[in-house]
Order: sequence, then structure tokens, then C-alpha cells
Amino acid sequence: MQVVDDTKVRSRFSIAGHPQVIELICPHCLKEATFTVKAWSEHAGQVAATEVPCPRCNIGVLFLELLDHRDSHDESTLYMHPDPVGREGIAGVEHLRTLSSPLARSYDSALKLYNHGEWGSAALTVRHLLEGLATRLLGDAQRDLPLARQLEALPKDVDLAKPLQDIAPLLAPGGTFGRQFDDETSIDQVTAEQLLDLAEQLISYLVVLPGTMAELKSRIATAPVPLRRGASNSAA
Ligand SMILES: [Zn+2]
Repeated sequence: MQVVDDTKVRSRFSIAGHPQVIELICPHCLKEATFTVKAWSEHAGQVAATEVPCPRCNIGVLFLELLDHRDSHDESTLYMHPDPVGREGIAGVEHLRTLSSPLARSYDSALKLYNHGEWGSAALTVRHLLEGLATRLLGDAQRDLPLARQLEALPKDVDLAKPLQDIAPLLAPGGTFGRQFDDETSIDQVTAEQLLDLAEQLISYLVVLPGTMAELKSRIATAPVPLRRGASNSAA
């Protein structure tokens, strides 16, 4: 049972603060559908449940709302079964928003189009997003290059070493973490957690990213090439 993103809930005022109108891709028929809840059954003020048939395929979807506060439904979490379909946004997308909110909106649109099965529009939006990202990160001289050339130019204009250089002093003998290694007993949960976060970020930057990129590249290289529409028509 997975969380339903808050943006899917269109209305939550009519039924004592519970979600009333939820717009989702139906996990059964995979079409966009508006689930209108008629009633929730609440248990002990802590959890509420309802089953709503999909207006398109008529198969029921179970919604479960976990209420964090007895008096207020402000911080409730909505779950559904079967799990929601579609791709979720990347973790840390707020950094993209900080870099450029128009780029973050392009990314949101690309996901939305993809999740609606609009493959062509999704792909064009992704290309637009990549062009925008490259232009945002590159110096003036490179901004008018075609996308492939822009991507090649990125490592020259973006300081890829900076994340590593920034954290190195923390681990030096006099650094925040380095100092604490002398006395293991002085290390508290916060420090252990931060150090683990740091290690995970490094692993993801140095090992996971190159590995998954290589994997993706080989998946792209071995994928069957779809026939062009014109080519299949002339063959028929
Ligand atoms: Zn359905």
C-alpha cells in the first residue's frame, strides 16, 4: 500500500476534511479517472477507509487515510490499494526547483505527460528540459550549441569535482568528523547519521551514478528500434 501524492486530491472539504475527489490513473484500467468518495468509515479517529469503484472500469480501489492528529486532519496521509501507477518525481527535486523553477515545472510536466501515457509529448518535454538544463548550467559561449554538443561541453563548464572537494575537509583529522574519530564514545546518533548520509551521497555520486548510466546506455543500445510510421505504411 503506497502513499497517494497530495496533488492528486482535488477536494477535501465536504466530508469532514477527508479527501472527497481524487484524480488518478486507475491502477486497474490504467486510464485517468476521477474517484469521488461518498463516505469514509473512520475508526478510533486514527484511520479512515473507503472503497470507490473506478468510474471507467468499475473495479474498486481501496483508499486508506491515516490521521496523524485526532482533532485536525491537516496532516493526514492517504494510501491506496492497489498501488498508484506511474513514475514518481526524483528524490531531491527541490534542488532543481532552487536552480530554476521553470525547469522544475518542465520536469513536472514531463512526468505528468508520461503518467498519462502521452509518450511523444513526454519525450519532447524531456528534450526541452535537457536543453533548458544545459543552457542554465553552461557559460554564454556554449548556449547556442545543439543539445548533444551542449552535453559534451557540460563537464568543462560545471565543476564536477566541487562536491568531493567540499566534503574532504570534514574528514581531515581536524575536521568535524575527523576530530570525533579519536573518541568513538563521543559519537552520537546525529553524527553517525550525518556520516552515513555523507557516505551514501558519495557512493551514489561515484559508484551508483556511473553504474546506472552505463546500464541505461546498454539498455538503450539493445532496445529494438521502432519502425517509423512512414516505413511501416509503405511496407503494408
Ligand atoms: Zn479503472
